[in-house]
Amino acid sequence: PAKPIFAGQLPPGLSRISSIVAVSSCKGGVGKSTVAVNLAYTLAGMGARVGIFDADVYGPSLPTMVNPESRVLEMDTEKKTIIPTEYLGVKLVSFGFAGQGRAIMRGPMVSGVINQLLTTTEWGELDYLVIDMPPGTGDIQLTLCQVAPLTAAVIVTTPQKLAFIDVAKGVRMFSKLKVPCVAVVENMCHFDADGKRYYPFGKGSGSQVVEQFGIPHLFDLPIRPTLSASGDSGIPEVVSDPISAVARTFQDLGVCV
Ligand code: ADP
Repeated sequence: PAKPIFAGQLPPGLSRISSIVAVSSCKGGVGKSTVAVNLAYTLAGMGARVGIFDADVYGPSLPTMVNPESRVLEMDTEKKTIIPTEYLGVKLVSFGFAGQGRAIMRGPMVSGVINQLLTTTEWGELDYLVIDMPPGTGDIQLTLCQVAPLTAAVIVTTPQKLAFIDVAKGVRMFSKLKVPCVAVVENMCHFDADGKRYYPFGKGSGSQVVEQFGIPHLFDLPIRPTLSASGDSGIPEVVSDPISAVARTFQDLGVCV
């Protein structure tokens, strides 16, 4: 089993964070960033001090999902640390705020960039740091999990992609690192129209999955045009509509991380 390398050498910028929560998926496009951002703003709405680390270097979505005043990360040149930007009180770091265009990088370079962003950022005192993980369970993800002392993981999937083998990969990676997988979020599972509920991807085998892997919580998120529109507008849905059923689901998720 992989040995956590953070033991005894926790990066100083991470030392005053109580909980580090990874939001992870096996594939891209399943709504991982949507879940990460809305979870973070839900926790902030509950009064917690929160940061988001967008570790999706290949496709950073945080810059389109939030509207911070400054869209470029500042450096403290004396301490050689990165100062997060901020939106509605949540601290934000993303490669998309690093002032570089999307680059073509090989795996080890990506790992290097992620580690540098994560470990040289001065996060300050936080109750939660939510990490929007790069999709997949390869070396990049493993390295990241070894640098950050994760306290919990949330796995996001969609019904048609809710293949045992995929979720199993995620669970296996986190269990190797002794990180508890606290919830699976089954995204885009249904939508309501004309008074009826439709399951466009079929009914997910969510409950089977959580049973089989002993994951304590399963949450369903519907397909909701406002969820994607809010992602594009820069105001997370749980901020613009804090009393919707979706916002309540995020509050329940917030309680279990
Ligand atoms: P990932 O991080 O897994 O690549 P994103 O969170 O970026 O996925 O979501 C992919 C796209 O799907 C985005 O345009 C997002 O707004 C949209 N989306 C995600 N979840 C939902 C949902 N439940 N209803 C409608 N659109 C969604």
